Amino acid sequence: MNIALIAHDKKKPDMIALAKRYCETLRAHTLYATGTTGTMIMGETGLKINRMKSGPLGGDQQIGAMLAEGKLDLILFMRDPLTAQPHEPDVSALLRLCDVQNIPLATNYASCDIMLRVVSEGGFSPKGILPGVSG
Ligand code: PGA
Repeated sequence: MNIALIAHDKKKPDMIALAKRYCETLRAHTLYATGTTGTMIMGETGLKINRMKSGPLGGDQQIGAMLAEGKLDLILFMRDPLTAQPHEPDVSALLRLCDVQNIPLATNYASCDIMLRVVSEGGFSPKGILPGVSG
């Protein structure tokens, strides 16, 4: 499965805590991240991550382009809702594309934790979640 990890600056400690908690689960997948988030997670966990540009420099758009091409299965995006982001249009575009593509998106620690718990338990199959279809 292809998983993207993004964290705004004040949420990076939370993202690192999540990555440590689910390190073995994440290791089994192909990981992508915006630049600084990826560098920090790799430094703290040793996970191998394909890094895009830093978010404010276009990294969110690069993740969005992958989404548009159907190359991502899950987005874990720890957003900071209390700080203005210079690249807010890029962030909004990324969230919109998740909805366009029906790709699972978690935007806070609690929802990221639920997503990765389901992944770790083998309960998530990529692109298998469709309206009106269970299982
Ligand atoms: P960063 O980008 O990982 O390079 O800090 C994240 C973001 O702000 O979108």
